[in-house]
Amino acid sequence: MLGSMMKQELLISDLIVHAAKYHADTEIVSRETTGEITVTNWAEVDASARKLASALGKMGLEHGDRIATLAWNNHRHLKIWFAVSGGGMVCHTLNPRLFPEQFIFICNDAGDKAIFFDKTFMPLIVGTRAHLKTIEHFIYMGPHDPEVAAAVPGAIFFDDLILGGDDAYQWPALSEDMPCSLCYTSGTTGNPKGVLYYHRSTMLHTFAISLPDGLNLSSRETVLPVVPMFHANAWGIPYAAAMTGAKLIMPGPGLDGDSLLSMIDDHKVTLALGVPTIWQMLLAAAAKSGSKMASLKRNVIGGSAAAPSMIATFRDTYDCETIHAWGMTETSPLGTANQIKAKHLDLEVDAMAALRLGQGRPPFGIDIRIVDDQGNPVPHDGKTEGALQCRGHWVVDTYFGKDSSALTDDGWFDTGDVSTIDADGYMVIRDRTKDIIKSGGEWISSVDLEGIAVSHPGIAMAAAIGAKHPKWDERPVIVAVRADGASPSEEEIISYFTNKVAKWQVPDAVVFTDAIPLNGTGKMLKNKLREQFGNVLID
Ligand code: ADP
Repeated sequence: MLGSMMKQELLISDLIVHAAKYHADTEIVSRETTGEITVTNWAEVDASARKLASALGKMGLEHGDRIATLAWNNHRHLKIWFAVSGGGMVCHTLNPRLFPEQFIFICNDAGDKAIFFDKTFMPLIVGTRAHLKTIEHFIYMGPHDPEVAAAVPGAIFFDDLILGGDDAYQWPALSEDMPCSLCYTSGTTGNPKGVLYYHRSTMLHTFAISLPDGLNLSSRETVLPVVPMFHANAWGIPYAAAMTGAKLIMPGPGLDGDSLLSMIDDHKVTLALGVPTIWQMLLAAAAKSGSKMASLKRNVIGGSAAAPSMIATFRDTYDCETIHAWGMTETSPLGTANQIKAKHLDLEVDAMAALRLGQGRPPFGIDIRIVDDQGNPVPHDGKTEGALQCRGHWVVDTYFGKDSSALTDDGWFDTGDVSTIDADGYMVIRDRTKDIIKSGGEWISSVDLEGIAVSHPGIAMAAAIGAKHPKWDERPVIVAVRADGASPSEEEIISYFTNKVAKWQVPDAVVFTDAIPLNGTGKMLKNKLREQFGNVLID
């Protein structure tokens, strides 16, 4: 016997239909590439998305076609997301910060048929167009612009396309198993690989992140996704905002501290999300201006480990609760979020701070475990470290275009991270497998050392790497950028570690540099640092 309730496919178009029907006048504020602020709402996003979907159909684009975007977080990008996925095509967000060769590889690998681009990225289009083998349509995200028309012959203009769209277009009845979007890993661990999400996986992820123990969205929140839509789908926030009717503040190209601060203060943002490097710039701008970011109640930090001092500054100076979260492109991306339970409410300040430093626990729909070198599960006791694996409704099975599954024989996805997990499922990332420092057979977490280094007021940014050592194989070395106007010495920084870690974990050396190379998603490129500084202890 089967159940006898209605069966509806879980579709992305349902999100925008819902937002337009029940949150029609909820505003979407968006910074254009020109710096101008545009205000629209969910009803208009839906109307424009439907027109755009019909226009793409008239251009001959079909279900399953990959449509790329090279764009900031802005209202046109939002409309493209719903038009493309809602219309049965696959929205492929491209990371413009990749090297041009990687960018070309990804477009060709995906077989993109059309590409939408913001003006900022016109030079990238002009410079790579000859190598983009499958793209037939170049669509500029703005009104008609003679400069674009001259630089990109044949370019189509977004605003004209919408005008030619059909008002009466209805979203097609798709299968929830059809693909909706495509995102490539940022390639810090090798060649970028495509992760092809489908409607069902995206919708279940959207429900999960919207819950209070996920990222806790609602129609009472004003949300600033600083994390780009090209970085793991802005962690799913545009979808969750439509599901819950949240107000969205789209920062466009203004990702510097001052621009973000004015978006937060001017538009009374209550929840903002981004990677640690973004928050460093925001905190510096807020300290300079004296703003207390009074509206900001919560921020979500993910993508890399949040330093303890950063979480403490948000808490103590700005009365802002940091939700530390972990995820990957391969996990849609939310894997865990650090939300406390009732039994933690009365924790002492230090114990609470220690708990909140970790990356949190999995919401329903995704499961995690840790395993030893042989792949055997190890205890969830909060102490034992192991390779972190996960499985669930929104975890990759097979990379785009590949035949073989990306999973272990028993169906888990190996994340490449090393972590502990406690009995309640609270997970703490100790390191990436390839970044952990192996000193004489013992492991030292580079994340811990970095957290201590950046809590020194004379250090703006720091990476801990394993440098080659004749006796211990590897020893920790800190590569650091001094804070503006500060000049701490190597000895001062090394002695700063005393009593903060075990003696044998204290770094052997500190090298100062002007800048630490970052990848396309703002993460420190430690492989580059190892190439550059990996021999400092033996040279
Ligand atoms: P890539 O793997 O190409 O860098 P992702 O953006 O998918 O691209 O990165 C996922 C990885 O980022 C995780 O496997 C983990 O190493 C790291 N990461 C994500 N969130 C956190 C976090 N809160 N703390 C520490 N590391 C994190």
